[in-house]
Amino acid sequence: MVAHNVNPLQATGQLPPVEWLNAPATRIVTQALTAHGAEIRFVGGCVRDALGHRQVKDIDLATPDPPDQVMALLRQAGIRVLPTGLKHGTVTAIVDHQHFEITTLRIDLETDGRRAEVAFTDDWLEDAKRRDFTFNALSANLAGEVFDPFSGLWDLAHGQVRFIGSAHDRVAEDYLRILRYFRFYGSHGRPPIDSEAIAACRAFANKLTEISGERVQSEFMKILCVADPAEILIKMKGAEVLHVILPEAGDPGVLRLVNWLETRAVIIAGVSPDPIRHLGALICETTTNVQELARRLKLSNRDQNRLQLICDPPVAVTADMGELAETKALRAYGIEQFIDFALIQWARELYAQTHLPPNRKKIWVELLERAVRWSTPTFPLTGQDVMALGIEPGPKIGNLLAAVETWWENHSYTPSRQECLNRLFDEANRL
Ligand code: ATP
Ligand code: MG
Repeated sequence: MVAHNVNPLQATGQLPPVEWLNAPATRIVTQALTAHGAEIRFVGGCVRDALGHRQVKDIDLATPDPPDQVMALLRQAGIRVLPTGLKHGTVTAIVDHQHFEITTLRIDLETDGRRAEVAFTDDWLEDAKRRDFTFNALSANLAGEVFDPFSGLWDLAHGQVRFIGSAHDRVAEDYLRILRYFRFYGSHGRPPIDSEAIAACRAFANKLTEISGERVQSEFMKILCVADPAEILIKMKGAEVLHVILPEAGDPGVLRLVNWLETRAVIIAGVSPDPIRHLGALICETTTNVQELARRLKLSNRDQNRLQLICDPPVAVTADMGELAETKALRAYGIEQFIDFALIQWARELYAQTHLPPNRKKIWVELLERAVRWSTPTFPLTGQDVMALGIEPGPKIGNLLAAVETWWENHSYTPSRQECLNRLFDEANRL
């Protein structure tokens, strides 16, 4: 049941009071864009999320002015502007470190599933038609009046993720919409899932291999952080989508528990859902070739290294590993990676056993609390201290320092500088 017969050109709603609508940075940008009288609107996620009473991440605006005019207006107002996607009509304005994406109203002239040939227009309805889902076609003018050409508000309120027009045709235009469908179903959808949309995703799933790794990664990382990622991944598997983008995916049971720990079981500032940790939890039982996965999904070196360590942990982080081993692991791998090891191990434990000792949770929580509070101690000696003993520059300096550092580490980083100097003196005499 969908409410229709809405005049798409008339405002039919109002944004709730949201801070960003009249914030100084927003006003600076909107005043610049309207200096010559253009009618501009907020579009996309900020309107949808304001209406859904969710936190708004970034602000997207649309204007009938062509991109060169947009750049000129912004520059005239002294605003920094980046030509982010000029060919597709998008520029980014930066005010007070905040980014505003401004896109010229456009029509897709030609599509091949991977990219679109676009033309600029001044027709708001045409621009809305090329958007993916009804609630992503919502827009709002500067007074906060909402335009809703495809009953997106109704769908938003009822958890309906609905393609504008035929699901099959819209997916054929842009295969990335398969992943966007699952992402928005994960963040906004309510069962039952739409069988027509699933059929369209299934029909074009194999085409996802033709989409660039960066675009797939960006959507997939968001899927990994929806409220219940394991549930969505099961749906993606059912639609034969998951194995196309992630053949390495294993049983999502550990991921489900990691997510439950992060969002429900432990309330610790610094422990929250993380896409790379979730990816690790999903593949760690099956994957040997992280390098190949990282290449395919265009992961950064940092993310690749982190994932590699999750899949092949060099240290066994457990609730009762002992404080010394704990601090050594924290110092060697850092807090973020330590939390990855701990949460995944804890989730594995929960997955494997139903009868854990009653104080088990307490021990894990205390471990995590110590981890987030951890600050890396600095080893109090340097090569200068070794040379001050009259030792010639060379490998002996490094060896001596390493020996004292290991001793200092084994004493839980408590020995003072003077105690380390004494130890160094002893070591140097022994060699
Ligand atoms: P987020 O909160 O993640 O930024 P968003 O809806 O703003 O969500 P974006 O990827 O920033 O998502 O896109 C902005 C808007 O552009 C969307 O709301 C939608 O209207 C449109 N859009 C983005 N990608 C597509 C696509 N592949 N096909 C059709 N419309 C799209
Ligand atoms: Mg956005």
